Amino acid sequence: MLLHIIQKMFRVVRALRQPRLATQDVRHHAVHLSANYRGQHTVDHEVCTGCDICADICPVNAITMLKLPFKRRNTVPEVNLATCIYCGLCEDVCPTKPEKAIKLSGGRFDILTGGSHADQESFWLRANIPQSYIDSRLAEEEAARVKKEMEAKKKEALAAEEARLAAEAEHAQPVASGAEGEKS
Ligand code: SF4
Ligand code: SF4
Repeated sequence: MLLHIIQKMFRVVRALRQPRLATQDVRHHAVHLSANYRGQHTVDHEVCTGCDICADICPVNAITMLKLPFKRRNTVPEVNLATCIYCGLCEDVCPTKPEKAIKLSGGRFDILTGGSHADQESFWLRANIPQSYIDSRLAEEEAARVKKEMEAKKKEALAAEEARLAAEAEHAQPVASGAEGEKS
């Protein structure tokens, strides 16, 4: 009996001394993933059209759309990983082709295995869009605006020229017919 108790205590002490799963840094361990594994999201902001469908379908409102300073495609999803239930609906409904703009492709396991986070921000998948991308998109939109403005001005000038020519032709007609009348 005493031996049984000692063996049990030994097992408990040994178990307590072993690192617990929740405190292991799983990023440095080989993890076998099943084919339909759903992990942390990745969002390709260059592919995303800002359609909001992923945010609309999310059953736990884990997605908020970040407003970007563009005229078109001006929102991109950010995901609260603590609220997310990893159902994958956001990826399923994302309409972009051939690649989905939002994917649950894994790459971070501590959120799924109870890792401790002092900072709540680490539970968010933020958009983190590079300034160079923002600048290039703004430059593109400005170039498109200038082009549109110039085309409109060109059209206006063309219409004015056509109107002027028509007025001139109208003015010239009675003079010509008057001259013919004098000859006869
Ligand atoms: S995986 Fe499900 S719960 Fe998580 S953000 Fe996408 S739709 Fe919402
Ligand atoms: S990630 Fe997909 S569904 Fe979500 S806003 Fe972008 S394009 Fe739309």
